Amino acid sequence: MSTTTKSGITAATRVIGILGHPVQHSRSPAMHNAAFAALGLDYVYVALPARPAEIGAAVRGVRALGLAGANVTIPFKEAVLSRCDQLGAAARACRAVNTLAVRGDALFGDNTDVAGLARDWDEAGLPRRVGRIVILGAGGAARAAAYAAAGRARRVVVAARRPERARVLVRSLQSEVRAELLAVDLAHLAPGARAEGLLGAAAVVVNATAAGMRGDPFPELAAALTAPDCLFHDLVYTRATTPFMALATAARRRSRNGLGMLLHQGAAAFEIWTGRPAPVEVMRRALVRAGRGS
Ligand code: NAP
Repeated sequence: MSTTTKSGITAATRVIGILGHPVQHSRSPAMHNAAFAALGLDYVYVALPARPAEIGAAVRGVRALGLAGANVTIPFKEAVLSRCDQLGAAARACRAVNTLAVRGDALFGDNTDVAGLARDWDEAGLPRRVGRIVILGAGGAARAAAYAAAGRARRVVVAARRPERARVLVRSLQSEVRAELLAVDLAHLAPGARAEGLLGAAAVVVNATAAGMRGDPFPELAAALTAPDCLFHDLVYTRATTPFMALATAARRRSRNGLGMLLHQGAAAFEIWTGRPAPVEVMRRALVRAGRGS
C-alpha cells in the first residue's frame, strides 16, 4: 500500500520529466501537471537537469528508473536519437527527438515539434494544401518546420544567413519528402533583393531562427512582397509580440508567436504517454500562467 502525500504523489505515481541543460526555465512541468490533474491521471512531470557529458547515463536512467517517458530539449535533441530502440517517422526525418516513451523494454523516440506545428497551423486556419511555405533558419527548429511544411506545401524554401547550412538541411531532407525543397541565402529576402519570386507565393513565413528571442532586432525582410493573407509565424514563444511579428504588423500581415506550437507539441507528447486525448485548453491556460511567472 503506498502512502498518499499532500500533493497526491504516491509510490504508484508514474514519473515523466524534461531532459535539458538548462531546464529550470521550462514551462512544460506546469503544462503537463495541469493536464494530469485535469484528467485525474496518476502522473507527475518534473525537470531533469542533465550535464551534457552525462546524457548517455541520463537516457539510460529514464528506462532504469522506471520513468514513463520524457521530453528532450536543448542541447540533447540530436544526441538522444541514437540511444532510442525505435523511432517515429518525424524523429527519423528530423534527426532529433523531443519525446521519449518507455514501451516495455524498448525506448521509443519521436519528434512532436512537427505535429505541434502542423496542429497550430490547423488552429490558425491554414488550408491543408498550400503552394509554398518559407522557413527562415537552418537549425533544429527549422528542420522540424521544413518537414512539417513539406507535408502541406508543394514547395518549401529554407533561407539562412549561412546558406550552406540551408543547403545541407535541404539535401538531407529532400529524400524524405515529396515537396520540392529550395535553399537560399536569407539576404535574398531583404528589401531591394528582388524577393518577389521567393516571397510572393508564400502562404506562411516561419521564423525558425533564434533572432528576436531577447527582443533583438530581426534581420531585414521584404514582408510587403508577400500576399495580403500570408501568415508570419514566429516560433519564438518567450514574448507575446516579437520583433518578427512587429515586422509583419508593419506590413499589415497577420502573425502569431510560438506558444501554439509549444502547446501542441506538448499535447502530442501527452497523447503518446497516456493514450488519452490531451486537455488542450487546460494546457494552454497553464502555459500562459507559467509564462507570466517567468
Ligand atoms: P538552433 O539549432 O541554434 O538554430 C538557430 C538558427 O537561427 C540557426 O540557423 C542560426 O543561424 C539562426 N540565427 C540565430 N540568430 C540569427 C540572426 N540574428 N539572424 C539570422 N539567423 C539567426 O536553434 P533551434 O533549436 O532551431 O531554435 C530556433 C528558435 O526556435 C528558438 O527561438 C527556439 O526557442 C524556437 N523553438 C520554438 C519551439 C516551439 O515549440 N515554439 C520549438 C523549438 C524551437 P547560424 O547557424 O548562422 O547561427
